[in-house]
This record gives sequence, structure tokens and C-alpha cells, in this order.
Amino acid sequence: MGLKIDLDLCTGCGACVAVCPFCALAQRAADGKVEVNEACTACGACLETCPVGALSMEVAEKKADAAALDAFRGLWVFAEQRGGKVQEVAYELLGEGRVLADKLGVELCAVLLGHQIGNCAATLFEHGADKVYVVDHPALEKYTAEPYSEAMSALIKKYKPEVVLAGATSMGRGFIARVAIQVNAGLTADCTELGVDVDKRLLLQTRPAFGGNIMACIVCPDHRPQMATVRPKVFKQPAPTAGRTGQLVAEKLDLKDPVVKVLETVNAMQNEVNVAGAEFIVTGGRGVGGPENFKLLAELAEALGGAAIGASRAAVDAGWISSFHQVGQTGKTVRPKIYVACGVSGQIQHLVGMNSSDTIIAINKDPDAPIFGVADVGIVGDLFQVVPELVKALKK
Ligand SMILES: Cc1cc2nc3c(=O)[nH]c(=O)nc-3n(C[C@H](O)[C@H](O)[C@H](O)COP(=O)(O)OP(=O)(O)OC[C@H]3O[C@@H](n4cnc5c(N)ncnc54)[C@H](O)[C@@H]3O)c2cc1C
Repeated sequence: MGLKIDLDLCTGCGACVAVCPFCALAQRAADGKVEVNEACTACGACLETCPVGALSMEVAEKKADAAALDAFRGLWVFAEQRGGKVQEVAYELLGEGRVLADKLGVELCAVLLGHQIGNCAATLFEHGADKVYVVDHPALEKYTAEPYSEAMSALIKKYKPEVVLAGATSMGRGFIARVAIQVNAGLTADCTELGVDVDKRLLLQTRPAFGGNIMACIVCPDHRPQMATVRPKVFKQPAPTAGRTGQLVAEKLDLKDPVVKVLETVNAMQNEVNVAGAEFIVTGGRGVGGPENFKLLAELAEALGGAAIGASRAAVDAGWISSFHQVGQTGKTVRPKIYVACGVSGQIQHLVGMNSSDTIIAINKDPDAPIFGVADVGIVGDLFQVVPELVKALKK
């Protein structure tokens, strides 16, 4: 792919030179016509500026072999388990996976990796899996990226799924990129929405791009499987169907001894808040004004029956509260029953982390704050007056 300039059409107006973000275009001294240099990234920003249509993009003709792509069928979910307990993100992905698999008319499968994890499969069936692939191997007992990616890649190469989804957790993020390389597939990380183009059999993977300022829809037309990670709490967990069963495929793999050995696991998070899993969250933004004022939010949290405290990045960056509390694109994605945003403006990077909350209550003194665009209840006012009133009312 590359930029092509038709010098017969070029009038030397220079309009394209001015817009190139990489200084890849320059006018020739002799006649003013435009030349492209090696700094060109083929971003296409210049194309529409040319008034005479002298610029075009050459697209490398690389047609995927349709028959080879057709050999891939089925939608897979990596069923993350820790200590023999399936993590909620796996159920959330099965819920969304069920919808997508039904649209594509394919099986929904879960992949379970670990050691002595047989009982986990039953809950995966109850949450919608038609089939569960299990690799039970001592090398998979404690998570490390090497054997996990080796096992997953071996399964993908053998069974050829069309789509593979994993949680954007430390584990999912840690090994799934290796898998994508090993099976020569693309990977879209941290999707906030998934869909399918049934005719083209494409997974539509939406995620924030350019610092969260746009939502990009990404497709992988030429490679299979189509792989994506999704953060916990982006999708709703489906209600389990007790007694639902499916096909269990126990796969024997001869895995290499991992180079990295886990000697000890330390849970550094055990005394930290779990904002991501909270049912009620009271969040403070820059409008809270300082670390000492988070006490006020703690009172509201207590009056709500023990809500977790969230924070915007502005509050975290100011050093008022630890980053464990941060909600948003670079913080946690949350889906509580009630989300109270106090002194938070509601920039897109914050909204993508909390706009799936059941009920959003926003307190802000600026009536035009974007947070009111997603709020179910908006209170225009000074949080230092509104919050104490709310606490008083709740205590009654
Ligand atoms: C790549 C990238 C990733 C990012 N990730 C995140 C993320 O994960 N999470 C996140 O939150 N941000 C993130 N940001 C930052 C984001 O763009 C905003 O800067 C941030 O969310 C603003 O925080 P805020 O709403 O607390 O502060 P501000 O935007 O400054 O808003 C403060 C609000 O408080 C109100 N206010 C002031 N005083 C009072 C009062 N007494 N009573 C009531 N209201 C009052 C004001 O009217 C204002 O609306 C990211 C940015 C980038 C570029």
C-alpha cells in the first residue's frame, strides 16, 4: 500500500503538503509539483485535499483464500479460571458469545486450561457453552503465559475456530497476544462492543482509539480466527440455566516445561477496594477539590449501605486517591446498580468505563457538564451542599 501521485494532474497548488502530519510531501523546486518521501505512512490524510484528484492510494491486492477462511467455524471463549473458580468475565463473554454465535449459526465453545479443573466445565455449560475444550496439565496449574499460549494455539490450529474472545484481564492480556502471533491472526484489545456482519462473517470489534476521542470499529477480513479481548463488566452476565449440559472435549497435549516458574503467588490486592465488582459506587472527580474531601463521599458511600469509592483520573493524577479506584478507559470498567458521580465532568475516557451502570446520578455545578448526557438523575449544584443533604435524607 502506498500513496500514488499523478504528476500529469498535479497543478502544484500545495494543498496536500500543508495537511500531511508526517511532512512526507514536498513541492519540487522546478515546477511545484508534489513528491512523496519515505516518511509517508499511507494515512490518507492528504487524499481529499487534492482539488484535481491527483492523489490516490495503491492497495496491495492480497485476497484471502476464501476456502481457507471457510474452514474456520465456531465461536470460542477463553474461560479464565483461578484456583479452580471460573472468573465472571468468562460468563460475561459467554453471554455475548451466545448472541454472536446464534447470529453466525455456529457453536459456542469454551476453552478451559488448568490442572484438576474438571468441575468448572459444568458451570460453563450452564452459562451457555455448547462445548467445552479442557486441557488439564500440571504445566497449567499456575498461570504463566508460555504454556497457556502453547495450549491455546494448539487447540486453535487443530479445531479452527472463527472467533476467539478472552477477558482483558492480566491473564487474558498476558497470553492472548502470543497466541495471535502463533496462529497468525489479528487481535483487537479492550473492545467495548462486539457485533457481527453475518454476510461477510466478520467480527465487528469496537474500541476507543486516538486517546478515546473516537470509537473505532475494527475488522479482520483476511485472517482467522478473529480475536478480541474485552474487559470485565463490559457485558452483562447471563442467568445460568441449571442442569444445562453440553459436549466435553478433553484434549491431551504434550506441553513443554515452562521456562518461567511461579514460586509464590502474593495477593497484593486483598486489602484494596474492588471497584470493578461493586454494586454501588460513589465517584469523586476534580470537583471534590482535595484528598480530605473524599471523607464526604465516604459518608455517602456508607449511607448507601457500603458503596465502593471510585475516582476520575484527574483525582488520581492529583494524588488524592490511589489508582485502584480509577474508573474509565485506563482505569476499571464498572457496571454497578447505582453510580454517583460527584464533581466529574464526564469526558469520554471516563464515560466508557461507567456508562453501562444501571442508574447514574450526577452531581455537578456546571449544567452543561457532559456527565449529564448519560445521567439518569442529574443534580445541578455544589457537591458540598448536595452530598450532605443526600446523606441526611438516606439516614432518615
Ligand atoms: C488516553 C487517556 C486515557 C484516560 N483515561 C481516563 C480514565 O480512565 N478515567 C478518567 O476519569 N479519565 C481518563 N482520562 C482523562 C479524561 O480525559 C479527563 O481529563 C478526566 O476524566 C477529567 O476528570 P474530572 O471529570 O474529575 O475533572 P474535570 O474535567 O476537571 O471536571 C471537574 C468537574 O467538577 C465540577 N465541579 C467543580 N467543583 C464542583 C463542586 N463544588 N460541586 C460540583 N461540581 C463541581 C466541574 O464543573 C467539572 O465538570 C484519560 C485521558 C486520556 C487522554
